Amino acid sequence: MNKRVEFPVVPFDGPFDKPLLSLVVPLYNERPMLPLFFDRVLPLLATLDVHWEIVLIDDGSDDGSAQYIRGVIDRMPGIRLIKLSRNFGKEAAMTAGLEHAKGDAVIVLDADLQDPPEQIPAMVECWQSGVDVVLMQRRSRAGETAFKRWSAHLFYRLLNRTSRTNIPVDTGDFRLMSRKAVNALLVLTERNRYMKGLFAWIGMPTQVIQYDRKPRAAGETKWDYPGLVGLALEGLTSFSVSPLRWATLIGLVAASMGAVFGLWIVIKALMLGDATSGYPSLVAIISFLGGIQLMSVGIVGEYVGKTYMESKQRPVYLTDEVIENLTGTRQQVQLKPTGARHVKAV
Ligand code: UDP
Ligand code: MG
Repeated sequence: MNKRVEFPVVPFDGPFDKPLLSLVVPLYNERPMLPLFFDRVLPLLATLDVHWEIVLIDDGSDDGSAQYIRGVIDRMPGIRLIKLSRNFGKEAAMTAGLEHAKGDAVIVLDADLQDPPEQIPAMVECWQSGVDVVLMQRRSRAGETAFKRWSAHLFYRLLNRTSRTNIPVDTGDFRLMSRKAVNALLVLTERNRYMKGLFAWIGMPTQVIQYDRKPRAAGETKWDYPGLVGLALEGLTSFSVSPLRWATLIGLVAASMGAVFGLWIVIKALMLGDATSGYPSLVAIISFLGGIQLMSVGIVGEYVGKTYMESKQRPVYLTDEVIENLTGTRQQVQLKPTGARHVKAV
């Protein structure tokens, strides 16, 4: 089914002498970061030979982030604030940003400056040499615990073993995408947005640039371990049905083991007249099989749940308002309460 996404924002109306670069920045309670963010990013954009826009997505912050950004928008054009109606999570915020970006190239960037904006010129240069995706790969992950590094490493490898879509190791959301790549991404209308997987799914000519990931400049990470485990499960089950096959396989192995064990007991009783003493082996087998069954039901449930969520066809996010400075004075675009994402079948 082909779907077309209509955008409520004013289309870019030039000038068209240079390409337009959009920075898409999801943020949630990043008020302490924002002055620093603009201080680092704005001078850098000024050195580039492109038109630019910054699309900030306020993912339901309640720390005054939006008010601060309004102040900046009042003073200068080129910045757009997409205020979501509540916290929808980074994946949804990024989707909102990509839908609202008008650029010929779009860079997704964290507001906490962990993705160094100083890499932007190299990314743009790479894009101008003809690739559609410039992927930023972490050479180092400063400010992260050894356990987080190790678990991330393990996760990426497990993910790539299970899924046909090859998700590059040690890459995050920090990347540049051409308009072609962004449009391809926006065709994927699934609700369940595991962005790293979606990014990888579209393919396209890609170049990898390595960089050193910095610690957060201020504030705190929004991810805790349960959140990360959830995201990992999401990743594993979004892009492959192999866990279902594992369940079948484990069931098969357990059943074979049970059969062999049963046979052995019968043979022993017939040949040696040794009636096997009961409980312990029985308890062990029952709990082993019970465990496997529960796990398998859990895995199946994960997929059933996903199908249920998809079947509801809810939008990925709702927009409260879009604020931008079009003519030097701030303009407020009030949206219909149904949100920004008008998805219409063609
Ligand atoms: N973020 C968001 N919505 C959320 C959580 C995070 O938009 O629900 C933003 C956050 O403000 C930041 C980026 O996503 O700009 C990355 O988040 P964070 O730094 O917490 O993740 P980490 O870098 O630790 O993976
Ligand atoms: Mg961060």
